[in-house]
Amino acid sequence: MTFEGIKEQTEQSIMHTYGRFPVALVCGHGAKAVDSEGKEYIDFTSGIGVNSLGYCDEIWVKAVTEQAAKLQHTSNLYYSPVQGRLAEMLCKRTGFSRVFFANSGAEANECAVKLARKYGTDTYGENHNHIVTLKNSFHGRTVTTLAATGQEGFHQYFTPFTPGFSYADPEMGSIREAVNGDTCAIMMEMIQGEGGVVPLDPGFVNELSAFCRERDILLLVDEVQTGIGRTGELFCYQNYGIHPDVVTSAKGLGGGLPIGACLCSERLKDVLGPGTHGSTFGGNPVACAGALAVLDRVAQEGFLEEVRRKGEYLKKKLSVMEEIESVRGIGLMLGAKLKKGTAKEAAQKCAENGLLVLTAKELLRFLPPLTIDYPEIDAGLYILSKTIQ
Ligand SMILES: *Cc1c(COP(=O)(O)O)cnc(C)c1O
Repeated sequence: MTFEGIKEQTEQSIMHTYGRFPVALVCGHGAKAVDSEGKEYIDFTSGIGVNSLGYCDEIWVKAVTEQAAKLQHTSNLYYSPVQGRLAEMLCKRTGFSRVFFANSGAEANECAVKLARKYGTDTYGENHNHIVTLKNSFHGRTVTTLAATGQEGFHQYFTPFTPGFSYADPEMGSIREAVNGDTCAIMMEMIQGEGGVVPLDPGFVNELSAFCRERDILLLVDEVQTGIGRTGELFCYQNYGIHPDVVTSAKGLGGGLPIGACLCSERLKDVLGPGTHGSTFGGNPVACAGALAVLDRVAQEGFLEEVRRKGEYLKKKLSVMEEIESVRGIGLMLGAKLKKGTAKEAAQKCAENGLLVLTAKELLRFLPPLTIDYPEIDAGLYILSKTIQ
């Protein structure tokens, strides 16, 4: 089918919730994708940080297809060896004690919110359910995770939203103001992704972590975008030296298959008991097999170091571009502010010229696969510099 045919079919039958580029991708390899017309792209998006190992990594494909051919799904009424292996690996690599498997970032965050509220009310009484999140955050598209999202633009149309959320600036004065006697948790992204690639200040993070510990307020870190090697550590909070109570993961975890995870510390391991939470597809064996392949790779000697090195390389090359005002982010999660023109416009033109990039607020956003090689980075940078000139 031609691109026009695909577009027509899509517009006639899918709800118009997405602003799409005029591109239909049909196959890919590594950091290269090919569209319906046979045109090739360098991909600096990896499907919004999802395809951690790039397109169709051989070992990942083998793990996923073998599992699909063996057993594609069972309900969570039965034990699953793949699920068990993945959970154990996640716990061993992080020091967390228990995992709940979901299918997306929003769902992983829903689990974190439920866990925090149950902990709060079990421990301190039924009103102890208030949660503080940060302004300019993004936590998902369900009604509760929209309520958790600290951006007014997201608080439209779907009222009534889940109550019990307040929003603070990332500084202690604002946090102290937002917290009340019934606050059970503070939830945050270490680098606000959709908010414009905004890393939290290390001083603030450390002060906040101590503040939470003193008052028995749970620290929930949303690592849906920053996790699984993206910032050169398995999770971004490790760059900051803190130990959150709960961490959520999704995007990059499955390497391209839908999976989310909510991890909690030892003292929270029994908060969600039988019947309090669940998911039909959560921990699906095929998705878990994909995630195991991703985690195996990320744990290989030198892999994270290489992500850091490539991140530094990309950051440096972006910083010296005449048309770029500033670059921020950690590892392979970078944002660039242009001196002139809008990021949206630049991203459109990049796609025309064979480079896929994301935007976040007024920035160009780069989330290339963790396995991208230097020639692919250079090829992408070349197209970018020609495009924004
Ligand atoms: C993408 C994202 C989400 C939502 O994940 P979905 O899989 O789309 O539900 C939540 N939090 C953060 C930080 C994200 O980047």
